[in-house]
Amino acid sequence: MLPIDDLIRADRDHVWHPFTQQRSWCEELPLVIDHADGTNLYDADGSAYIDGVSSLWCNVHGHRHPAIDQAIRDQLDRVAHSTMLGLTHEPAIELARRLAEITPPGLTRVFYSDSGSAAVEVALKMAYQWWVQRAESQRTGFISLQNAYHGDTLGAVSVGGIETFHSLYRPLLFDTWQARAGDAGHLEQLLVEHGDRVAAVIVEPLIQGAAGMLTMPSGFLARTRELCDEHGVLLICDEVATGFGRTGAMFACEREDVSPDLMCVGKGLTGGYLPLAATLTTEPIYEGFLGRPEELRTFFHGHTFTGNPLACAAGIATLQTFERERTVERSLPKIELLTRLLDERVAPLPGVAEVRQCGLMVGIELHPGDALGNRVTLAARGRGAIIRPLGDVIVLMPAPAMPAADIDRLVAITAASIDEATAGGAGAASVSRGAPLSGAAPLSGAPALSSAAV
Ligand code: PLP
Repeated sequence: MLPIDDLIRADRDHVWHPFTQQRSWCEELPLVIDHADGTNLYDADGSAYIDGVSSLWCNVHGHRHPAIDQAIRDQLDRVAHSTMLGLTHEPAIELARRLAEITPPGLTRVFYSDSGSAAVEVALKMAYQWWVQRAESQRTGFISLQNAYHGDTLGAVSVGGIETFHSLYRPLLFDTWQARAGDAGHLEQLLVEHGDRVAAVIVEPLIQGAAGMLTMPSGFLARTRELCDEHGVLLICDEVATGFGRTGAMFACEREDVSPDLMCVGKGLTGGYLPLAATLTTEPIYEGFLGRPEELRTFFHGHTFTGNPLACAAGIATLQTFERERTVERSLPKIELLTRLLDERVAPLPGVAEVRQCGLMVGIELHPGDALGNRVTLAARGRGAIIRPLGDVIVLMPAPAMPAADIDRLVAITAASIDEATAGGAGAASVSRGAPLSGAAPLSGAPALSSAAV
């Protein structure tokens, strides 16, 4: 490995980080992750950090899980990549078969892609094309929810509703009708007014993650399904964040007995190891695309790394590990523990306005303050935990496999960090492993303030 100072210099010279103001980034000292083990990440000095957000909501069984590592190594000895255009391979077939088995009833067909955003694009295009091929080409519209986040590609941004991320791009986007999140009456009103021009309703089931972990009222998802049926409109459930054990069930849809017409999965599909996503759909939708080649009913969509064999092998091992380790079942007492710890240690803090939780997905809304979310994140890093802010909301998303003792420690660090950052303004966010940097950009020393926007 290069000396740490050289690495950081090269990062500043060449790497453009996502959702990050690069000017601030280059003024601060980045944390360089060197390796990981279980649900801990380690920096170049060997300091350990609890991975409190599952490496952006995707790690499930812990890092360097022996079964997933082995599956990828074994697949490497066969083939790392082969296209799904005109060819097929065992890992993609086997993973699709297993996904059809474990997802809500009726979802039998699996279309692979390589990111959650792409899985959403696929769902939107599939829904639209399906209607066109049923001679209903007036159905060009989608109903999405206010505050929705479905990814960063332009179709996904079109059905997004987060001003900070999305408003700039409006001139490039297609129009949608936005229902008030959690308000079934408003959704119904939009369907009554525009239903015959709507291809699909798209929702994040149970909880809107990137909006700041906004939980939906109980029954809203089931009512959304009913309304879609009443108005003859397709339902797309975006389980990219909620899928694979995050909400106390394998998929959030299960919690309200909902089977969508299209379901998007990503992130945890490979245990958070490799980029792989999928859009699942039903036989009627699949059959709507069948025909002679010259009829052009083909779904003309596909990415180079669609169904990559290494990623599919990681996916199969991930699903086998869910079964073998009874991961979802064993996460339930940890979810209860998390609820209790948040109630006892976080909710009563003066800086905390609200704590929202759905399974292992947690949003801690702070009373607004100057870059407060970032300061809490920094303080937590100094205490040995990686957490992330979404504005003034602190997100915790421990992996379903995180040991109870680490969940306890994660909440303790979060509570202490909120206390520290909210107690005395900006200066209060000093950290135990050194102070944040201001102005100058030295190349080594303490972890520093995150410049990321979210
Ligand atoms: N959909 C939801 C609900 C998400 O939370 C995300 C990412 O956080 C996405 C889609 C986009 O996934 P990706 O970042 O893999 O493109």
